[in-house]
Amino acid sequence: MRRNSTNKEGRRSFLKETAALGAGLWAGENLEAYPQNTNTNSKPSDLRITDLRVATVARAPMTCPIIRIDTNQGIYGLGEVRDGASKTYALMLKSRIVGENPCNIDKIFRKIKQFGSHSRQAGGVCAVEMALWDLAGKAYNVPVCQMLGGRFRDKIRIYADTTESRDPKVFGQRLKARLDQGFTWLKMDLGVEMVADTPGAVTRPAGASFAYNDPAQGMFTGIEITEKGIAMMADYVAQVRDVVGMDVPLSADHFGHIGVNSSIRLGKALTKYNLAWLEDMIPWQNTELLKKISDAVDIPILTGEDIYLKEPFMELCRTHAVDIIQPDLATAGGILETKKIGDGAQEFGVPMVLHFAGTPVACMASVHCAAATGNFLVMENHSIDVPWWGDLVEGIGKPIVDKGFITVPDTPGLGVALNDEVVKQHLAEPGFFEPTPQWNVDRSSDRQWS
Ligand SMILES: [Mg+2]
Repeated sequence: MRRNSTNKEGRRSFLKETAALGAGLWAGENLEAYPQNTNTNSKPSDLRITDLRVATVARAPMTCPIIRIDTNQGIYGLGEVRDGASKTYALMLKSRIVGENPCNIDKIFRKIKQFGSHSRQAGGVCAVEMALWDLAGKAYNVPVCQMLGGRFRDKIRIYADTTESRDPKVFGQRLKARLDQGFTWLKMDLGVEMVADTPGAVTRPAGASFAYNDPAQGMFTGIEITEKGIAMMADYVAQVRDVVGMDVPLSADHFGHIGVNSSIRLGKALTKYNLAWLEDMIPWQNTELLKKISDAVDIPILTGEDIYLKEPFMELCRTHAVDIIQPDLATAGGILETKKIGDGAQEFGVPMVLHFAGTPVACMASVHCAAATGNFLVMENHSIDVPWWGDLVEGIGKPIVDKGFITVPDTPGLGVALNDEVVKQHLAEPGFFEPTPQWNVDRSSDRQWS
């Protein structure tokens, strides 16, 4: 149940005031019949943040802290810390935002953006930003995408992550099942690990690690794929293409820790399979090396899921070091910053894909941004095979991802409320939006200049 529908006294007094001011706006309507799930009690100018609380969901399939920002008028906003990140990133912002009017989204964002950084460290700032948009939308009774300037599209195209198999026929059939579900864009993982056990497929110093969380970036591992290894990986893609055909866009990710020259030779070998993009072949910080790969390979090169704020994206776009950018809204800086990133990229002729791996809360934040950004292509979803994922929320049509698309909601804010019972069934740790008084005060000088 939405908390804002319970504040009947405030709602009635607001209706009275609005009727006096707005005269015939609702003439002839039964005011009590006005939708109970939309805000009719908020006076936006007097709205103030009173609290920030967290409930962390597990196995969605990622671990995702959902935040709730409460106000003095009974309405609340939902946001989400980036998958895998600490809830502390959001909680440490509570003392900086309590007392603020949540409708002043950009002002608050500029106040707290100093506490974010790349990848998961941006999770708190972005969660708060999402929740502010949800609150502003509820306060003014409009969907977030409308506040961003309106829609370029009513449905958001989705691609689904799909469980890997080293057998290309098995994996091809899994992708074929995605087509049968209605998906119109496919994605595969294509890691050097799949050939690493084959003698003669990979040249590497003894002990060099392929591990995803190994701290050495690909350029510093000394790992290079041989002609034999590249031929094996290209053959894998060929067999997958045999199953799904050439007509559907097919993206590839998770190449593993390989160097620039291996990236180029592998990319060239994959050209004839016309992949939609090659993702994060080397880490995003290496603009000139990415440009070297992009210039040599005739398949779109993509990066962006770990980048915080617009400026690094603009550097990648201005230099055309990548062909496509892929911000994750829960890392990039939230809804407005991600729209700015998309709009900025568009000026350089660069399209935007949205990375996403969270709950329906951050999903809907991404959907509103995708709806309102012209150069958007497609958005990720990791949770198609998690049966209760959509049940975490109510207020929108189900299934949320329907035949490969998400319908942009018309309801205020993000357009979803939590289903408390389902969220409680999937908590990563005890505690469902418990009080957080220990975060009320944090004695600190936050100013970055003198
Ligand atoms: Mg990725």
